[in-house]
Amino acid sequence: MKKMKMFILLFIVLISLALALIKVNDIQSIKIEDKKAYAALINKEEHGFEKEERNLKGKTIIIDPGHGGKDVGASGQMGTLEKDVTLKMARNLQHELEKRTGASVILTRDKDVTVSKKERVELANTKNADLFISIHFDAFTSNEVNGITTYYNHGTDRSLAALIHRHLFEQDLGTRDRGVSFGDFFVLRENTKPSILLELGYISNAEDEKRINSQTYQTQASTAIVEGVIEYLSN
Ligand SMILES: [Zn+2]
Repeated sequence: MKKMKMFILLFIVLISLALALIKVNDIQSIKIEDKKAYAALINKEEHGFEKEERNLKGKTIIIDPGHGGKDVGASGQMGTLEKDVTLKMARNLQHELEKRTGASVILTRDKDVTVSKKERVELANTKNADLFISIHFDAFTSNEVNGITTYYNHGTDRSLAALIHRHLFEQDLGTRDRGVSFGDFFVLRENTKPSILLELGYISNAEDEKRINSQTYQTQASTAIVEGVIEYLSN
């Protein structure tokens, strides 16, 4: 009888060992990608990383699609109107920002209507905005000129402009970096909130015009701006 008990005990120990070995093997056979995903999941659960992506709750961001209504803005050789692409970009940006940051995002216009510059700036005040971003596309008499420029007016907004601009060129936008500049624009000059104006390409340049209309560009630019906004408002 004693022998029988010993045998059963040994059997149980062996089975446990085998099960443990299978478990170790299982873990080792997880692909590197899966391990990363698993680690991210654990991190998310333990440290709330998912929250970090949406940590701009309570912040208000105003996106200002340039022109609109009677004011068409610049126009391209293929017929692109600035007022249409600024609205398209603003909507993309609003969607990305709301999804990723949880911030409250307000557009100065969400359709093709005329809105005065004064009304645009006033919205930043009445909504007590944390950030105001105006979207534009350039035009020039020479159709050779292309690229992106980021403008600020108040000296205190220079670093904000530089930060967003840096994020834009971290993306492979395939256009010229025209740098960060001081700009005497009404919507910046009269703004009491942190504000910048983006000239996201030249409609008057055929290549830029084509690029501006592409979904790839719209996505890359809005991703870059959202990342810049997160960095700026998280500090
Ligand atoms: Zn414009």
